[in-house]
Amino acid sequence: PPRASLELVAEPLADGWVLVTVDDVSDRTRIDAMRTDFVANISHELKTPVGAIAVLAEMLEDETDPEVVARVASRVVAESHRAVTTIDDLLELSRIESTRLADDIVDLSDIVDGAVARGRGADGGERVEVTAFGAKGDIVLRADRRQLTSAIGNLVENAVKYSDDDGVVQVRTRADDRWVEVMVSDQGVGIPTRDLDRVFERFYRVDRARSRETGGTGLGLSIVRHVASNHGGECVVSSQEGEGSTFVLRLPASLVVDAADLTDTNES
Ligand code: ADP
Repeated sequence: PPRASLELVAEPLADGWVLVTVDDVSDRTRIDAMRTDFVANISHELKTPVGAIAVLAEMLEDETDPEVVARVASRVVAESHRAVTTIDDLLELSRIESTRLADDIVDLSDIVDGAVARGRGADGGERVEVTAFGAKGDIVLRADRRQLTSAIGNLVENAVKYSDDDGVVQVRTRADDRWVEVMVSDQGVGIPTRDLDRVFERFYRVDRARSRETGGTGLGLSIVRHVASNHGGECVVSSQEGEGSTFVLRLPASLVVDAADLTDTNES
């Protein structure tokens, strides 16, 4: 059989204990080749945190030192969150793939402001500066509010997540007679050219160790791409490794509604 590739993440707990998570990535390399096998992917993604929970829980059975118990318990909590986040993202993706678009009237700036507020919150408001440009009522669309919220939220969340300390994240919106664009740019780690095409694939991550640290599921950008295509648009990325990335969510200008035409049925 081919040699197994293993990925090791070691994490000191206390009293000389080290939690070593061994991820068999040879599986994944194979799974990449049969990407259509979504179930295998999901199983693999869930097996990692659930496997870690099992090992940690076993440690807890024999452990009496309260400090070690506390450290191990917090790892159990973290791995549980990871499993739940993966399941939540999968449910979101499946909802986005299978349900019809809602016909909401959305003010793009509301969605951007919400995403920016959450982006700042995710960071504790300290590490990365997140700024939105664009005024209320500038761009009003007929679109699925929930889906746009999810897509723009994912882009801003990623920009913050993959920024270095003191990074700056900017969200700009613009419209011309063909496209409405939401541009999310960061000065973070960037994406190597060879990975640019693949980041929108389900479960694809450039740097698994980093993504794991930041709680990434590898599903965010596939959600974004689906939302874009559901609305007749697309999402594109340009990036320079070590310099930063810009993601552009592009929606057809035909979705724009003239705010002046809105009657009292306006929901936003
Ligand atoms: P994740 O949950 O891992 O962030 P995504 O689907 O949102 O998954 O993104 C896929 C991968 O693309 C990430 O793991 C990361 O490697 C890369 N990526 C996404 N956004 C950025 C960004 N703004 N800067 C650098 N890398 C990014």
